[in-house]
Amino acid sequence: MSQSILIKNSTIVNEGKSFVADVLLSDGLIEQIGNIVVESDYKVIDGTGKHLFPGIIDGQVHFRDPGLTHKGDLYTESKAAIAGGVTSFIDMPNTVPNILTAESLREKYEIASQKSLANYSFFLGVNGDNIDDVIKMDTSQFIGVSDDGLYFTKKGNLLADSPEKMEKLFANCNSIIAIHSEKEEIVEANEQAFKKKYGENIPAKFHPIIRSAEGCYEATKRAIGIAKNHNARLHILHLTTEAETHLFQNDIPLIEKKITTEVSVHHLWFSDKDYDRLGMLIKWNPAIKSEKDKQGLLKALLDDRIDIITTDHAPHALEEKEKPYFQSMSGAPMVQHSLNCMLEFYKQGLISLEKIVEKMCHNPAILYRIKNRGFIREGYFADLTLVDLNSQWTVAKDNLLYKCGWSPLEGTTFLTAIKQTFVNGNLVYDNGRFNETIKGMEITISTQSN
Ligand SMILES: [Zn+2]
Repeated sequence: MSQSILIKNSTIVNEGKSFVADVLLSDGLIEQIGNIVVESDYKVIDGTGKHLFPGIIDGQVHFRDPGLTHKGDLYTESKAAIAGGVTSFIDMPNTVPNILTAESLREKYEIASQKSLANYSFFLGVNGDNIDDVIKMDTSQFIGVSDDGLYFTKKGNLLADSPEKMEKLFANCNSIIAIHSEKEEIVEANEQAFKKKYGENIPAKFHPIIRSAEGCYEATKRAIGIAKNHNARLHILHLTTEAETHLFQNDIPLIEKKITTEVSVHHLWFSDKDYDRLGMLIKWNPAIKSEKDKQGLLKALLDDRIDIITTDHAPHALEEKEKPYFQSMSGAPMVQHSLNCMLEFYKQGLISLEKIVEKMCHNPAILYRIKNRGFIREGYFADLTLVDLNSQWTVAKDNLLYKCGWSPLEGTTFLTAIKQTFVNGNLVYDNGRFNETIKGMEITISTQSN
């Protein structure tokens, strides 16, 4: 039995309210919230002047393990997550091997149980070739199925490109289907046009014109139409355009929605103004788009057309990024700084603390049917992060925890700092120091349909 921890006097941000109280963590769970008397065997943490959030649940990361561990692995990237206040993550299937079977999924859980400091769950991959196998499985046992990243392996793996494949999957799959939504034929036509003009050296600033807003909108509109026909449970990953936000509704509670979506932090943070400064370092798929798109995404987040915030954390070695356009890999690491970025928007008066917690903690738990996490409630897992809203620091190489050793945010000064992170009741991150002896847990889901 681990020692009970008492967090005294912090401002708890939870379920639409902020209030000062004490929180007692015992045997992995939140035992009590209120005015709690100190007992001799408690480890006491003074939270005076600090804010206590539920641990962030990041619904989309690429931790690259197994097979691509020169970019990142389940130990290094989960450690970066913890330092960023992220206590649980859901990882994508585009590792090596691709996670396309129940067996490879089990192997990935085994690796995570040895290496991950945060709690973990994994999508089952669905691509152009394994739909028949996937629909034979009881997919309700999985957190979800996804094609994200699999299109890098082989053309034809992007579901959004193939109405027939979507028809088949959406009609026969009873789990969340999370897709990468872009129309490749539009992208390819644009690529050819730019290749004619610039050859291999297309400037990064044309990335959002090549992977265009139109390509996103057309794909998302079609996927939603097919999902509605089959009453399927569709989640559109990393939305990037203002136009697409109007395809989603906010007139019913999240728990009742069949069609949901998310925004990744970098699409709120960067715009096409940043390509000249950062070049290929901010090459993502779907692309960072215009200032108008960025503002439209924030608006849709605030009015609940967008349900959750993710990072799509996707590390690459720096030499894999710093290449001519077609060879430069898409994706960048973000998981250590997602909460800092959102708190910067809070500092600018653009979003409330309660809304940040709703979109980064509560809603991912609701959307993915995660059991007993994402809220500060008695009896729930003690996944928490204690934040100082008045602590200034600058992102630099020597404070990055990513295996790849770089960030598109280097040089950015944040006005808030994550001080402590608790995972399953254990103090895993404490002002720059880690307790690596205790590993995270597999996230469990409630299988009753909602
Ligand atoms: Zn992704």
